[in-house]
Amino acid sequence: MTDVRSTIHARLVMPAAYTLLRDRRFVLMRELLERDAWSRDQIREHQARRLTHLFQICRRHNPYWSAKFDVFGLDPNGADAFAELAKLPILTKDEVREHWSRMRSTHLDDSEIVVESSGGSTGMPVNLYQSKHYRTLHAANEYRSRAWMGIHPGEPYLSIQADGGYIRGRKRFLRNVRMAVERGTIIDGLQIDPARTREALRAAASRRPVHVLGYTTPMVAIARIARELGLDWSSIRAVSTTAERLFDHDRAFLGETYNAPVFDRYGSREVNSISMQCPEGRHHIFADLNVVEFVPIDDADEDMNAIVVTPLDNEAMPLFRYRGGDEASAVAGDCPCGRALPLMTGCRGRIANNFVTADGRLINGGYFSRYFSHENGVNAFQFHQTSVRHIDVYVAVDGAPSDDRRRQLNDMLAGIERDYPGQFDLSLHVVEEIPRRASGKHLFTISDVLLHV
Ligand SMILES: [Zn+2]
Repeated sequence: MTDVRSTIHARLVMPAAYTLLRDRRFVLMRELLERDAWSRDQIREHQARRLTHLFQICRRHNPYWSAKFDVFGLDPNGADAFAELAKLPILTKDEVREHWSRMRSTHLDDSEIVVESSGGSTGMPVNLYQSKHYRTLHAANEYRSRAWMGIHPGEPYLSIQADGGYIRGRKRFLRNVRMAVERGTIIDGLQIDPARTREALRAAASRRPVHVLGYTTPMVAIARIARELGLDWSSIRAVSTTAERLFDHDRAFLGETYNAPVFDRYGSREVNSISMQCPEGRHHIFADLNVVEFVPIDDADEDMNAIVVTPLDNEAMPLFRYRGGDEASAVAGDCPCGRALPLMTGCRGRIANNFVTADGRLINGGYFSRYFSHENGVNAFQFHQTSVRHIDVYVAVDGAPSDDRRRQLNDMLAGIERDYPGQFDLSLHVVEEIPRRASGKHLFTISDVLLHV
């Protein structure tokens, strides 16, 4: 049930706050919710219109793509936008990493653009430009996703996400304002100190959240602590996970802990919202926001295809047929929930292990990837905890590492040492290619010790 305070908050406080900030997310949320009633044909027409628009933007304002269109014979005004799109080859992460600064469109000035870093969620960091409109649209899609779970804007929630010292100054201030407006509480999921987490959970439970959301493995680690505390979580109506693959046993554990349904969501920093489970448990693709293809690729796992995405609304840096590194497959048929948005399997990939310190704190793999957020020249990395006291750090760079690069890497190790003094020996290995393990193709953080503690 939505209480009076939530209603006032959702109808008055939040719209007023976002109007003051000239942020259109509430208007866009209503538009997106209307799209849930679209038919397959309406979705496809919308995709075609958006694709054509993006092609034309690129022809006029994006020299990188315009040149590529010429090479592959793409006609921005072609009658069948999907056939035109199919002329382009798959866009790899390597290509984006190498050319990102040239891939920016010229018609939007700096005030309309944000630089985003993928933060290396697959161990391979990528930088990108996103238009502010695109980010607001996807913020609106966050509300749409919550609506699917029966959660309304203004209802209190608990978010398990990054909240460490790396968020500072203005960024932290704005985040705190937003949390107050949205009635959100954050618990740091990347660095979990059990004593502090217990305290934070007690405070969070007293605010009667209706929704717990966040990164998958930290949510599981924190749910374990939440269980021990025996707090009252009866206010919670939905749990949602993102950023990592959700295994069945973790889903069951989260559902039991909070006594609420668990919704898995899939997206990335590069492409934001890609799919989400509806109340029927099916993974719907946000096909009004992206054209998603499933492409058979030799190095993909059996029965799975590479997910190839064309986001439809980021004019700042269009990505056509972008392969982010995850795998899934299309699912045929309709969903009983009535939404015509097409279906896919759950996403396979992105498994971030939790690491453990000698004194019993947990560190999520995402913590390490933060050190590579705005790095250029680092092609890939992997952290491997081989014992409670030892972590091997593999970093693949272009060519021989310069003195500057070595200094940067040593600074990174010093940063980890500062956060966790005396907990680990870190061995840095600068390599040409990250060692692959049969079962660990997608792992950028591997811990051999957690299960034995
Ligand atoms: Zn459905």
